[in-house]
Amino acid sequence: MTDIIIGIDLGTTNSEVAVIRDGRPQLLEVDGSHILPSVVGLADDGTLLVGQAARNQYVLYPERSIRSVKRRMGEDVTLPMGDTSYSPQEISALILKRLKRAAEEQLGESVGKAVITVPAYFSDAQRQATRDAGELAGLEVVRIINEPTAAALAYEVDATEPRTILVYDLGGGTFDCSVVRAGGDVTEVLASHGNNHLGGDDFDAKLIEHVVNYLKTEHDCDPSAERRAMARITRACETAKIALSDAPYARIEEEYLLPDRDPPINLSLEISRIDYEAMIEGYIDETLEAVHTALKGAELTVADIDEVVLVGGATRTPLIQERLEETLGMQPRAEIDPDLCVAAGAAIQAAVMAGETTHSVLVDITPYTFGTSAVGEMGGMFYPHCFIPLIRKNSPIPITKSKGFTTMVDGQDAVDIHIYQGEDPDALNNTEIGEFKVEGLSDVPAGNVIVMRFELDLDGILKVTATEKRTGLEKHIAIDNAMTRFESQGLDAAKQRLAALIDDEPAEGASAADAETEEHRQQVKAKALLEKAERLLASASAEDKEDLIDLIEAVRDTLAADDQDGLERSVAALSDLIYYLES
Ligand code: AMP
Repeated sequence: MTDIIIGIDLGTTNSEVAVIRDGRPQLLEVDGSHILPSVVGLADDGTLLVGQAARNQYVLYPERSIRSVKRRMGEDVTLPMGDTSYSPQEISALILKRLKRAAEEQLGESVGKAVITVPAYFSDAQRQATRDAGELAGLEVVRIINEPTAAALAYEVDATEPRTILVYDLGGGTFDCSVVRAGGDVTEVLASHGNNHLGGDDFDAKLIEHVVNYLKTEHDCDPSAERRAMARITRACETAKIALSDAPYARIEEEYLLPDRDPPINLSLEISRIDYEAMIEGYIDETLEAVHTALKGAELTVADIDEVVLVGGATRTPLIQERLEETLGMQPRAEIDPDLCVAAGAAIQAAVMAGETTHSVLVDITPYTFGTSAVGEMGGMFYPHCFIPLIRKNSPIPITKSKGFTTMVDGQDAVDIHIYQGEDPDALNNTEIGEFKVEGLSDVPAGNVIVMRFELDLDGILKVTATEKRTGLEKHIAIDNAMTRFESQGLDAAKQRLAALIDDEPAEGASAADAETEEHRQQVKAKALLEKAERLLASASAEDKEDLIDLIEAVRDTLAADDQDGLERSVAALSDLIYYLES
């Protein structure tokens, strides 16, 4: 039997361990989680703490806690913890030891070998320090591999053709962007660029600054010097930041934040995603510049990139995904948990070295994009049916995403909600899979916020909820088989679209039922044609516009009057005009 080799992602903020089981990478649990915070500390009584417990005490007892030790690897320094000082290798070894023990507990056998990942920019000294840490932990480090290489391996393990992959890795405290050539026999990093001091912690810092300023102006108090209060604010801000990745608003609430004040200060502050995004935009710009620098370093252009792969917890920030898609013209891949894919890649490398066969990471994803429609801008014009995706294709499921929308007119008392599946920016070109109306909205000026929430579960049930933010008035629907119904619905929609183009006569001798279906078909076709005609209005010449408006009205009148013959005639005339305008 071959020795087990574990794969370890020894991160600045968090670390993970994985192995290959039944040919597939599997993350192992440490203290009930797949993620072990890379923090080491000593408790009150001198007991060693590694992971979450050490992280929890860090803000209160920094003198007996150490975090971000990875930043010090390769340096000739000692780091104080309690009464003793330790080398960075020794502290890293404590983290590795915890991972090794967790692996042994779960695998039921001793583990002596590991593949450990390091950033592509790590120097020889830093790599050697990592090996030494492994040895101190009782692990033979059979290979050190670059983190972006590991991420590429996790995604491309089955690929036979070489592919060029951009790995965008934004963790808690570091950012790296690498261009990797993967597949075939060799996987190599062509170029790498980044910032060793940029990450999700900086996003937290922006929110913390915002909260402190709020307390200064609204409550006339400055908590900056109060450790306990700042620790609570820091934790609450990170929680709010994570919530804002899936929801348009988050509330930071800390009761008795400053209990000694008279009266005691309770913090309650709402942050919108839009305001938060404005705070972090500068950081994201910086990462995008680094993407271009890395591409330049590899002597490639955006057009040479086959895939963009997201790594690191902070890449769950929707603005990052949007900006990358905008810049690179492709949807970044995030189906493998961005916290875990480096460890999964390390496990794949470990298995390859042990001579085992491996397959790609299997995750449940939605193959379709789901969203709603709203008035927006398309081609420089206002258009009422812009598609607004909420759940993007290839997202791991189950998943919940929400987004805020606003009413268009003063006193608007209802909104019609349409739910679509598809990719087209024009919602009408996608498949409508559900529809409902929210009535009884407050009588307030335009801008009343309606929060839409999409929840897609493992059974493919999509629950869509619309909530009036100011009152909590809510309405929802559940769409069964949201993922499988598309096949037939998509066909129906395609048929309808074709029907609108081809003016075929019903077959002779059609039955009453057929006639009824035919009538329905004509109506669907007429409505599709109307939508199309309305869109063409914007670009039509004055003369054509007049003809279009006449025919649109004719179709509308015959539809309203349920005049089947008249409808057929007016639809044919409108069809002809559209054909003429489009050709
Ligand atoms: P890593 O070092 O890769 O574990 O990334 C940790 C960073 O990702 C921390 O700053 C986390 O707060 C951040 N993070 C984790 N989950 C999310 C999320 N859903 N949205 C935004 N940031 C997140």
